[in-house]
Amino acid sequence: MTRRQCTGEYKIKPIKKKVRELLGYPYPQRIPKDAFVEQWIGISTDEFHRAKDADVRYMKNVHPLIEMGWSRSDCTHYLASLGLADTPKSSCLVCPFHSNAQWRQIRDTSPEEWQDVVEFDAAIRKGNARANTAGKKLLGQAFLHRSRVPLSEAPINHVTAAERAALQSEPADVYELEHGVADGCSPWACRGEVDAPAQDDFGLTS
Ligand code: SF4
Repeated sequence: MTRRQCTGEYKIKPIKKKVRELLGYPYPQRIPKDAFVEQWIGISTDEFHRAKDADVRYMKNVHPLIEMGWSRSDCTHYLASLGLADTPKSSCLVCPFHSNAQWRQIRDTSPEEWQDVVEFDAAIRKGNARANTAGKKLLGQAFLHRSRVPLSEAPINHVTAAERAALQSEPADVYELEHGVADGCSPWACRGEVDAPAQDDFGLTS
């Protein structure tokens, strides 16, 4: 897995920009200490370890599901009671953490989005100029699917024997490859956040 700035670039920065706009202090204006927004984040009790404070004073994170003591299954039961039982985990269309099941779901239910992700996958082959965590150029090629073949040809119909063998020392990875990670993705609880900047939208820290 290479360096990822997805959450930082596509979620956190735009959200902070909007919050500054809502508060009436667009960058680079200084925000008074007592001006802030309350941001509600839907993290359930089973994943309380993902609940974190915002990294800027003008945003205060609130976790209502944790306050109500709701687990993931409480949420799914509630959604089912509203006729929304099929609500999927939230994630970007081109997320490199997608499981085979998630890729199949896009391919089989949304041809336009599938075309979009196949084109995106082809476009990233050369990687980024600062693709790895050390900020160095990618020496190999970038792929969205773990098999490291173009998405249009990737073995998304099942976990292949070769993949199973490659992952033999890490059996949990085989499950993840097919079913995906248990948690979805949100701006302050994202697997991509390892490289997300702990900064303001334009590099300020307060
Ligand atoms: S779902 Fe999260 S980890 Fe995946 S691409 Fe989007 S921001 Fe990145």
